[in-house]
Amino acid sequence: MIKELHFRTPSRAVLHDITSQVQAAIREVKIESGLCNLYVPHTTAGLTINENYDPSVCQDILQRLEALVPMNGHYSHSEGNADAHVKASLMGHTATLMIEKGQLVLGTWQGVFLAEFDGPRSRRVLVKITATP
Ligand code: ZN
Repeated sequence: MIKELHFRTPSRAVLHDITSQVQAAIREVKIESGLCNLYVPHTTAGLTINENYDPSVCQDILQRLEALVPMNGHYSHSEGNADAHVKASLMGHTATLMIEKGQLVLGTWQGVFLAEFDGPRSRRVLVKITATP
């Protein structure tokens, strides 16, 4: 079964920490050990895993992406969000995380982020949890 997590992103570009919602989805299925596949079904938002302790890390990532792929650059795609498509592809749309003892296996400082580049919007993150031995 696929679970859907729903988020309302607050601004055009934000790394929105979704770690606790993913963890809650894992708790609901009550498995001890397994894999958690995350998928963002959007073309201008992606997924990344990075530090969720010091918020300046997320600021740096967003600022550097903006410098690489500026919103007001020259693009073929004329919808006005070409940069958001490129940034979403740079982040990627999937993550596979391990589950042990009913918990996501993450590094001490790591969190899972929905990477929004064309907000504010309603976004979905699909979660597929598979039990493994
Ligand atoms: Zn577009």
